[in-house]
Parts: sequence; structure tokens; C-alpha cells
Amino acid sequence: MDAPVLECPSCGGAGFRLADYDSMIVITADYALFTLSCSNCGARVSTVRSIPDELHDEVRYAAIEVGAGMGQIG
Ligand SMILES: [Zn+2]
Repeated sequence: MDAPVLECPSCGGAGFRLADYDSMIVITADYALFTLSCSNCGARVSTVRSIPDELHDEVRYAAIEVGAGMGQIG
């Protein structure tokens, strides 16, 4: 399955791939707040999305690293 591509609200192009995020804040095991830069126009967008499969390994590591400071979810 291809990674989800988001439409840019600024230029309307499909300029975002979640895997190319600038930053990702994990909210739950399945959702994260992504900040992305449009490859087309450079607009920065933050969006809450389900975490793509291809990022789950990264998320797992990130969650372990920040786990002590985030408290327990669930
Ligand atoms: Zn754009």
C-alpha cells in the first residue's frame, strides 16, 4: 500500500507525504500530529492522521524515547 498523500491547502497540489514529515507528535498508538512542508509551494501544514504502516517502527522507537515524559496512555 502506498503511503497516504495529502493535498496542500495552499496550492492544491499533492505535496505532502506523511513519511516526509518535518515533525511528528504521537498522540495515540495509531494517530499522530504531523507537521509537513509542501514540496510544491513550501507551505507548512499540521494535521492529525493515522500513522502509516511504514512509520510504525519509527513511532515505536519515538514512543519509547519519550515514554517517560508522556505518561501512560490507555
Ligand atoms: Zn503547496
